[in-house]
Amino acid sequence: MLIYIDGKFLPADQAKISVFDHGFLYGDGVFEGIRAYNGRVFRLKEHIDRLFDSAKTIDLKPPLSKEEMAEVICEVLRRNDLDNAYIRPIISRGHGDLGLDPRKCPKPTVVVIATSWGAMYGDLYDKGLKAITVSVRRNPAEALPPNVKSLNYLNNILAKIEANYKGGDEAIFFDTNGYVSEGSGDNLYVVKNGEILTPLTLNNLRGITRMVVLEIAKSLGIPVRETNLGYFDLYSADEVICTGTAAEVAPITWIDGRVIGNGRPGPVTRQLMAAFRVVTEKEGYPIHRKVIGAKSSVARKTAAKIAAAKTAKSPAKRNVARKSGKGRK
Ligand code: PMP
Repeated sequence: MLIYIDGKFLPADQAKISVFDHGFLYGDGVFEGIRAYNGRVFRLKEHIDRLFDSAKTIDLKPPLSKEEMAEVICEVLRRNDLDNAYIRPIISRGHGDLGLDPRKCPKPTVVVIATSWGAMYGDLYDKGLKAITVSVRRNPAEALPPNVKSLNYLNNILAKIEANYKGGDEAIFFDTNGYVSEGSGDNLYVVKNGEILTPLTLNNLRGITRMVVLEIAKSLGIPVRETNLGYFDLYSADEVICTGTAAEVAPITWIDGRVIGNGRPGPVTRQLMAAFRVVTEKEGYPIHRKVIGAKSSVARKTAAKIAAAKTAKSPAKRNVARKSGKGRK
Protein backbone atom coordinates (compact mmCIF):
# COMPACT_ATOMS: atom_id res chain seq x y z
CA MET A 1 0.00 0.00 0.00
CA LEU A 2 1.33 3.41 -0.97
CA ILE A 3 0.31 6.43 1.08
CA TYR A 4 0.67 10.04 0.00
CA ILE A 5 2.38 12.33 2.50
CA ASP A 6 3.39 15.84 1.51
CA GLY A 7 4.32 15.10 -2.08
CA LYS A 8 5.70 11.58 -1.56
CA PHE A 9 4.09 8.21 -2.14
CA LEU A 10 5.42 5.98 0.64
CA PRO A 11 4.90 2.34 1.67
CA ALA A 12 2.61 2.13 4.72
CA ASP A 13 5.45 1.21 7.12
CA GLN A 14 7.37 4.33 6.06
CA ALA A 15 4.38 6.65 5.99
CA LYS A 16 4.96 8.58 9.21
CA ILE A 17 4.25 12.05 10.51
CA SER A 18 5.88 13.97 13.33
CA VAL A 19 4.70 13.54 16.92
CA PHE A 20 4.77 17.36 16.96
CA ASP A 21 2.10 17.52 14.28
CA HIS A 22 -0.85 19.32 15.80
CA GLY A 23 -3.17 16.86 14.10
CA PHE A 24 -1.70 14.28 16.48
CA LEU A 25 -1.27 16.55 19.49
CA TYR A 26 -4.64 18.33 19.35
CA GLY A 27 -6.81 16.82 16.62
CA ASP A 28 -6.13 20.10 14.83
CA GLY A 29 -6.94 19.34 11.22
CA VAL A 30 -9.66 18.19 8.88
CA PHE A 31 -10.41 15.08 6.85
CA GLU A 32 -12.76 13.43 4.42
CA GLY A 33 -14.05 9.93 3.79
CA ILE A 34 -14.65 9.24 0.10
CA ARG A 35 -15.48 6.13 -1.87
CA ALA A 36 -14.55 5.09 -5.37
CA TYR A 37 -16.76 2.67 -7.28
CA ASN A 38 -15.95 1.05 -10.61
CA GLY A 39 -12.99 3.28 -11.43
CA ARG A 40 -14.76 6.52 -10.48
CA VAL A 41 -14.47 8.63 -7.37
CA PHE A 42 -17.99 9.25 -6.14
CA ARG A 43 -18.90 12.93 -5.61
CA LEU A 44 -15.22 13.91 -5.51
CA LYS A 45 -15.93 17.62 -6.03
CA GLU A 46 -18.40 17.72 -3.15
CA HIS A 47 -15.95 15.97 -0.81
CA ILE A 48 -13.07 18.26 -1.76
CA ASP A 49 -15.33 21.30 -1.38
CA ARG A 50 -16.34 20.12 2.10
CA LEU A 51 -12.70 19.43 3.01
CA PHE A 52 -11.77 22.96 2.01
CA ASP A 53 -14.81 24.46 3.77
CA SER A 54 -13.85 22.61 6.96
CA ALA A 55 -10.27 23.88 6.57
CA LYS A 56 -11.46 27.44 5.97
CA THR A 57 -13.58 27.35 9.11
CA ILE A 58 -10.60 26.38 11.26
CA ASP A 59 -8.36 28.90 9.43
CA LEU A 60 -6.19 26.20 7.87
CA LYS A 61 -4.86 26.98 4.40
CA PRO A 62 -4.46 23.82 2.33
CA PRO A 63 -1.07 23.75 0.58
CA LEU A 64 -2.72 22.20 -2.49
CA SER A 65 -5.39 23.58 -4.77
CA LYS A 66 -8.65 21.65 -5.12
CA GLU A 67 -7.52 20.42 -8.57
CA GLU A 68 -4.21 19.22 -7.14
CA MET A 69 -6.00 17.42 -4.32
CA ALA A 70 -8.24 15.67 -6.86
CA GLU A 71 -5.17 14.65 -8.84
CA VAL A 72 -3.36 13.34 -5.77
CA ILE A 73 -6.40 11.29 -4.74
CA CYS A 74 -6.63 9.73 -8.21
CA GLU A 75 -2.89 9.09 -8.25
CA VAL A 76 -3.05 7.29 -4.89
CA LEU A 77 -5.79 5.08 -6.33
CA ARG A 78 -3.81 4.45 -9.52
CA ARG A 79 -0.59 3.62 -7.67
CA ASN A 80 -2.48 1.20 -5.44
CA ASP A 81 -4.35 -0.27 -8.37
CA LEU A 82 -7.70 0.45 -6.72
CA ASP A 83 -10.89 0.94 -8.72
CA ASN A 84 -13.10 0.40 -5.68
CA ALA A 85 -11.85 1.97 -2.50
CA TYR A 86 -12.37 3.99 0.62
CA ILE A 87 -10.21 7.12 0.53
CA ARG A 88 -9.10 9.20 3.47
CA PRO A 89 -7.59 12.62 2.69
CA ILE A 90 -6.31 14.48 5.75
CA ILE A 91 -4.98 18.00 6.14
CA SER A 92 -3.52 18.66 9.57
CA ARG A 93 -2.13 21.87 11.01
CA GLY A 94 1.35 20.43 10.70
CA HIS A 95 4.50 20.39 12.81
CA GLY A 96 4.57 22.90 15.66
CA ASP A 97 5.64 23.10 19.28
CA LEU A 98 3.83 21.74 22.33
CA GLY A 99 1.71 24.89 22.66
CA LEU A 100 -1.70 25.25 21.05
CA ASP A 101 -0.85 28.21 18.85
CA PRO A 102 -1.37 27.29 15.19
CA ARG A 103 0.90 30.16 14.15
CA LYS A 104 3.78 27.92 15.24
CA CYS A 105 2.82 25.41 12.54
CA PRO A 106 4.04 26.91 9.26
CA LYS A 107 3.26 24.01 6.96
CA PRO A 108 0.08 21.88 6.96
CA THR A 109 0.57 18.16 6.52
CA VAL A 110 -1.34 16.46 3.70
CA VAL A 111 -1.98 12.72 3.79
CA VAL A 112 -4.08 10.55 1.47
CA ILE A 113 -4.73 6.90 2.33
CA ALA A 114 -6.77 4.57 0.12
CA THR A 115 -7.79 1.04 0.90
CA SER A 116 -10.30 -1.62 -0.11
CA TRP A 117 -13.32 -1.52 2.13
CA GLY A 118 -16.48 -3.37 1.21
CA ALA A 119 -19.88 -3.09 2.84
CA MET A 120 -19.24 -1.64 6.31
CA TYR A 121 -22.18 -3.34 8.03
CA GLY A 122 -21.98 -6.78 6.33
CA ASP A 123 -25.21 -8.75 6.70
CA LEU A 124 -26.90 -5.93 8.62
CA TYR A 125 -28.03 -4.38 5.33
CA ASP A 126 -30.47 -7.31 5.14
CA LYS A 127 -31.26 -7.62 8.84
CA GLY A 128 -31.13 -4.00 9.92
CA LEU A 129 -28.95 -2.31 12.54
CA LYS A 130 -29.62 -1.99 16.24
CA ALA A 131 -29.22 1.61 17.35
CA ILE A 132 -28.90 3.13 20.80
CA THR A 133 -29.77 6.73 21.61
CA VAL A 134 -26.78 7.79 23.67
CA SER A 135 -26.56 10.13 26.64
CA VAL A 136 -23.59 12.02 25.22
CA ARG A 137 -24.86 15.01 23.21
CA ARG A 138 -23.61 16.07 19.76
CA ASN A 139 -21.28 18.99 20.25
CA PRO A 140 -23.30 22.15 19.63
CA ALA A 141 -22.60 24.30 16.58
CA GLU A 142 -21.79 27.25 18.83
CA ALA A 143 -18.92 25.23 20.36
CA LEU A 144 -17.57 23.25 17.40
CA PRO A 145 -19.86 23.02 14.37
CA PRO A 146 -20.49 19.37 13.47
CA ASN A 147 -20.20 20.59 9.88
CA VAL A 148 -16.46 20.89 10.38
CA LYS A 149 -15.20 17.39 9.66
CA SER A 150 -12.32 17.81 12.03
CA LEU A 151 -9.70 15.34 13.15
CA ASN A 152 -11.20 15.63 16.61
CA TYR A 153 -13.85 12.90 16.56
CA LEU A 154 -13.87 12.33 20.31
CA ASN A 155 -17.54 13.37 20.58
CA ASN A 156 -18.41 10.67 18.02
CA ILE A 157 -16.12 8.10 19.64
CA LEU A 158 -17.76 8.64 23.04
CA ALA A 159 -21.13 8.00 21.40
CA LYS A 160 -19.79 4.86 19.75
CA ILE A 161 -18.35 3.59 23.04
CA GLU A 162 -21.73 4.05 24.75
CA ALA A 163 -23.55 2.26 21.92
CA ASN A 164 -20.99 -0.57 22.01
CA TYR A 165 -21.49 -1.09 25.76
CA LYS A 166 -25.26 -1.07 25.32
CA GLY A 167 -25.24 -3.61 22.47
CA GLY A 168 -25.92 -1.28 19.54
CA ASP A 169 -24.43 -1.38 16.07
CA GLU A 170 -24.67 2.41 15.86
CA ALA A 171 -25.25 5.35 18.19
CA ILE A 172 -27.93 7.99 17.72
CA PHE A 173 -27.00 11.44 18.99
CA PHE A 174 -29.43 14.08 20.23
CA ASP A 175 -28.31 17.69 20.26
CA THR A 176 -28.28 19.79 23.42
CA ASN A 177 -31.93 20.79 22.74
CA GLY A 178 -33.06 17.17 22.64
CA TYR A 179 -33.52 17.00 18.88
CA VAL A 180 -32.21 14.10 16.80
CA SER A 181 -28.81 15.05 15.39
CA GLU A 182 -27.15 12.11 13.60
CA GLY A 183 -25.37 8.80 14.09
CA SER A 184 -21.75 8.58 15.19
CA GLY A 185 -20.73 8.50 11.52
CA ASP A 186 -23.88 8.92 9.47
CA ASN A 187 -27.02 10.98 8.90
CA LEU A 188 -30.46 9.82 9.97
CA TYR A 189 -33.93 9.66 8.42
CA VAL A 190 -37.34 8.59 9.61
CA VAL A 191 -39.99 7.31 7.21
CA LYS A 192 -43.55 7.96 8.39
CA ASN A 193 -46.67 7.49 6.25
CA GLY A 194 -44.62 7.42 3.05
CA GLU A 195 -42.72 10.64 3.83
CA ILE A 196 -38.99 10.91 4.58
CA LEU A 197 -38.18 13.18 7.51
CA THR A 198 -34.62 14.19 8.28
CA PRO A 199 -33.03 16.73 10.62
CA LEU A 200 -31.77 20.02 9.21
CA THR A 201 -28.00 20.17 8.95
CA LEU A 202 -27.06 22.68 11.63
CA ASN A 203 -26.62 20.09 14.38
CA ASN A 204 -24.93 17.43 12.27
CA LEU A 205 -22.53 16.90 9.39
CA ARG A 206 -23.98 17.96 6.03
CA GLY A 207 -23.59 14.49 4.58
CA ILE A 208 -22.82 14.05 0.92
CA THR A 209 -24.63 10.71 0.90
CA ARG A 210 -27.55 12.57 2.49
CA MET A 211 -27.55 14.98 -0.43
CA VAL A 212 -27.51 12.09 -2.91
CA VAL A 213 -30.26 10.20 -1.07
CA LEU A 214 -32.49 13.28 -0.98
CA GLU A 215 -31.94 13.77 -4.72
CA ILE A 216 -32.84 10.12 -5.29
CA ALA A 217 -35.95 10.40 -3.12
CA LYS A 218 -37.10 13.44 -5.08
CA SER A 219 -36.50 11.69 -8.39
CA LEU A 220 -38.54 8.71 -7.15
CA GLY A 221 -41.35 11.02 -6.08
CA ILE A 222 -40.95 10.23 -2.38
CA PRO A 223 -41.76 13.35 -0.33
CA VAL A 224 -38.94 14.67 1.84
CA ARG A 225 -39.17 17.09 4.75
CA GLU A 226 -36.23 18.55 6.67
CA THR A 227 -37.42 19.15 10.21
CA ASN A 228 -36.62 18.81 13.89
CA LEU A 229 -37.20 15.29 15.19
CA GLY A 230 -37.42 13.91 18.71
CA TYR A 231 -37.15 10.41 20.14
CA PHE A 232 -40.94 9.99 19.70
CA ASP A 233 -40.37 10.23 15.93
CA LEU A 234 -37.66 7.58 16.07
CA TYR A 235 -39.56 5.04 18.13
CA SER A 236 -42.85 5.47 16.26
CA ALA A 237 -41.30 5.49 12.76
CA ASP A 238 -42.32 3.09 10.02
CA GLU A 239 -38.66 2.93 8.94
CA VAL A 240 -35.40 4.46 10.13
CA ILE A 241 -32.40 4.82 7.82
CA CYS A 242 -28.82 5.94 8.22
CA THR A 243 -26.48 7.05 5.44
CA GLY A 244 -22.80 7.85 5.09
CA THR A 245 -19.92 7.31 2.73
CA ALA A 246 -18.65 4.35 4.73
CA ALA A 247 -22.08 3.04 5.82
CA GLU A 248 -23.75 3.81 2.46
CA VAL A 249 -27.55 3.41 2.90
CA ALA A 250 -28.46 1.17 5.83
CA PRO A 251 -31.68 0.24 7.63
CA ILE A 252 -32.12 0.67 11.40
CA THR A 253 -34.73 -1.78 12.64
CA TRP A 254 -34.32 -1.59 16.42
CA ILE A 255 -33.77 1.43 18.68
CA ASP A 256 -33.40 1.15 22.47
CA GLY A 257 -35.45 -2.07 22.54
CA ARG A 258 -38.23 -0.74 20.27
CA VAL A 259 -38.72 -2.69 17.05
CA ILE A 260 -39.04 -0.25 14.15
CA GLY A 261 -41.91 -1.04 11.78
CA ASN A 262 -42.09 -4.80 11.35
CA GLY A 263 -38.43 -5.24 12.30
CA ARG A 264 -37.29 -5.68 8.69
CA PRO A 265 -35.85 -3.12 6.27
CA GLY A 266 -38.89 -1.28 4.91
CA PRO A 267 -39.92 -0.59 1.31
CA VAL A 268 -38.65 3.01 1.18
CA THR A 269 -35.31 1.96 2.65
CA ARG A 270 -34.96 -0.85 0.12
CA GLN A 271 -35.87 1.45 -2.75
CA LEU A 272 -33.25 3.98 -1.66
CA MET A 273 -30.60 1.29 -1.16
CA ALA A 274 -31.18 -0.07 -4.67
CA ALA A 275 -31.24 3.36 -6.32
CA PHE A 276 -28.10 4.43 -4.44
CA ARG A 277 -26.31 1.35 -5.76
CA VAL A 278 -27.26 2.28 -9.32
CA VAL A 279 -26.08 5.89 -8.91
CA THR A 280 -22.72 4.89 -7.42
CA GLU A 281 -22.10 2.39 -10.23
CA LYS A 282 -22.63 5.06 -12.88
CA GLU A 283 -21.45 8.40 -11.57
CA GLY A 284 -18.10 9.77 -10.49
CA TYR A 285 -14.80 11.36 -11.39
CA PRO A 286 -12.83 8.93 -13.56
CA ILE A 287 -9.63 7.73 -11.92
CA HIS A 288 -8.00 6.73 -15.20
CA ARG A 289 -9.01 9.65 -17.37
CA LYS A 290 -6.50 10.96 -19.92
CA VAL A 291 -4.23 13.75 -18.69
CA ILE A 292 -4.78 15.65 -21.95
CA GLY A 293 -8.43 15.84 -21.10
CA ALA A 294 -7.72 17.48 -17.73
CA LYS A 295 -9.71 20.69 -17.60
CA SER A 296 -7.54 23.18 -15.80
CA SER A 297 -3.91 23.90 -16.49
CA VAL A 298 -3.14 23.26 -12.80
CA ALA A 299 -4.60 19.78 -13.04
CA ARG A 300 -2.66 19.20 -16.26
CA LYS A 301 0.63 20.37 -14.75
CA THR A 302 0.10 18.33 -11.59
CA ALA A 303 -0.79 15.26 -13.61
CA ALA A 304 2.31 15.75 -15.77
CA LYS A 305 4.51 16.07 -12.67
CA ILE A 306 2.99 12.94 -11.21
CA ALA A 307 3.62 11.11 -14.49
CA ALA A 308 7.26 12.32 -14.47
CA ALA A 309 7.71 11.34 -10.82
CA LYS A 310 6.40 7.86 -11.61
CA THR A 311 9.28 7.22 -13.99
CA ALA A 312 11.88 8.79 -11.68
CA LYS A 313 14.00 6.23 -9.84
CA SER A 314 14.52 8.04 -6.57
CA PRO A 315 11.53 8.22 -4.24
CA ALA A 316 12.84 11.67 -3.26
CA LYS A 317 12.05 12.87 -6.75
CA ARG A 318 8.45 11.76 -6.38
CA ASN A 319 7.61 15.04 -4.86
CA VAL A 320 4.51 16.19 -6.60
CA ALA A 321 1.92 18.39 -5.10
CA ARG A 322 4.06 20.11 -2.51
CA LYS A 323 6.30 21.49 -5.26
CA SER A 324 3.50 22.32 -7.60
CA GLY A 325 1.80 24.09 -4.69
CA LYS A 326 4.80 26.41 -4.23
CA GLY A 327 4.34 30.02 -5.00
CA ARG A 328 0.56 29.77 -4.90
CA LYS A 329 -1.37 32.08 -2.65
N1 PMP B 1 -22.14 12.40 10.14
C1 PMP B 1 -20.91 12.10 10.58
C2 PMP B 1 -20.55 12.45 11.98
C3 PMP B 1 -19.99 11.47 9.75
O1 PMP B 1 -18.77 11.18 10.20
C4 PMP B 1 -20.37 11.12 8.45
C5 PMP B 1 -19.39 10.42 7.54
N2 PMP B 1 -18.60 11.32 6.84
C6 PMP B 1 -21.66 11.46 8.02
C7 PMP B 1 -22.52 12.09 8.89
C8 PMP B 1 -22.11 11.17 6.61
O2 PMP B 1 -21.48 12.03 5.72
P1 PMP B 1 -21.15 11.57 4.24
O3 PMP B 1 -22.40 11.05 3.66
O4 PMP B 1 -20.68 12.81 3.58
O5 PMP B 1 -20.09 10.54 4.32
